[in-house]
Amino acid sequence: MGRIAIVGGGLAGCIVAFRRAAAGDRVTLVEASSRLGGQLWTERVDGFVVEHGAEGFIARSEAVPALAGALGIDGDLVGQETLLSFGFDGALRELAPGEAAAFLGFQVPRDELGKGIRTFRLGMAQLTDTLARALVDGGRVDVRLSAAAASLA
Ligand SMILES: Cc1cc2nc3c(=O)[nH]c(=O)nc-3n(C[C@H](O)[C@H](O)[C@H](O)COP(=O)(O)OP(=O)(O)OC[C@H]3O[C@@H](n4cnc5c(N)ncnc54)[C@H](O)[C@@H]3O)c2cc1C
Repeated sequence: MGRIAIVGGGLAGCIVAFRRAAAGDRVTLVEASSRLGGQLWTERVDGFVVEHGAEGFIARSEAVPALAGALGIDGDLVGQETLLSFGFDGALRELAPGEAAAFLGFQVPRDELGKGIRTFRLGMAQLTDTLARALVDGGRVDVRLSAAAASLA
């Protein structure tokens, strides 16, 4: 048990803070912007979930459901309504399983192709919003927003 500082409150920084606090460390988390979540940023507009960053995670992931379970939001995990993907190269056409992943640069094992992505009912930021609440409520993490680290010593 010790004191640690984490620079950056994106998903990675929040998870490290959550785990280290659970292990008994006292954690200071500094985040340059005014909110936690980093590249995960969801807005809810007129009843719609609008993703400004990641819209989901690969369906075969075990890490995200495990984290969701630890946070008590695994019941809010949702899959795709349809697994069809379409591309546009002059005309709209249905893509074969794996084509969309290849286009996006995802490395997906062959037997996992066509399984799509999963997300949370309230969008991907439901994960970081819940993590952020757990960090503050747990009382072991000092979250400092709008605090850019200028140097490490
Ligand atoms: C448009 C878009 C779509 C995406 N789609 C997907 C997807 O569908 N599926 C998927 O798995 N991934 C997707 N990604 C990638 C995924 O969102 C990122 O890999 C992931 O969120 C990165 O998390 P991170 O914590 O490593 O970094 P970040 O989210 O970048 O967090 C880093 C944090 O550090 C802070 N910071 C930086 N410098 C300092 C400093 N000096 N002091 C204090 N704080 C600092 C930043 O403000 C930021 O909040 C997408 C990304 C984008 C942008």
